[in-house]
Amino acid sequence: MKKVKLLVSACLAGENVRYDGKNSMICEFDKLKDTFDLEYICPEVASGMTIPRDSNEIISQNPLKIESKLGISNEKYFMKGSSIALSLCNKLNIKYALLKSKSPSCGNEKIYDGNFNGTLIDGMGVTAKMLKNNGIIVFNENQIKSLYKAANNK
Ligand code: SF4
Repeated sequence: MKKVKLLVSACLAGENVRYDGKNSMICEFDKLKDTFDLEYICPEVASGMTIPRDSNEIISQNPLKIESKLGISNEKYFMKGSSIALSLCNKLNIKYALLKSKSPSCGNEKIYDGNFNGTLIDGMGVTAKMLKNNGIIVFNENQIKSLYKAANNK
């Protein structure tokens, strides 16, 4: 049977692309590979941001304002990364994504509140929102059971 295509945050697959040069590899990764046809992306690195880089938080959603911990505006990188991710999904006909929770790019439910003090609020990262608004179903690493269920019922 043909595997379902899945876009995955590169850090969840073990790539050292996080702002601190580390990864967030998930233990279910091998099983995922058995079930899905995986395509990886780190929207921030794809947009031209460096590894390592300062951490960024979404300061406001409307208008979109994203700053690094040093106060540098970085919206353009996050917008570019989200466009690259969407283009990849469109090109490869990807309908599902597994993205890293809480990230200003990849978070699908919660994000940090913009004060760099670890407080989480409801909200989505720029790439997660872009994908969702274009019909792609986005899960995070704590929702893998739901991902399997959705993919099996498609
Ligand atoms: Fe991981 Fe997404 Fe952050 Fe890249 S932008 S390090 S893929 S959470």
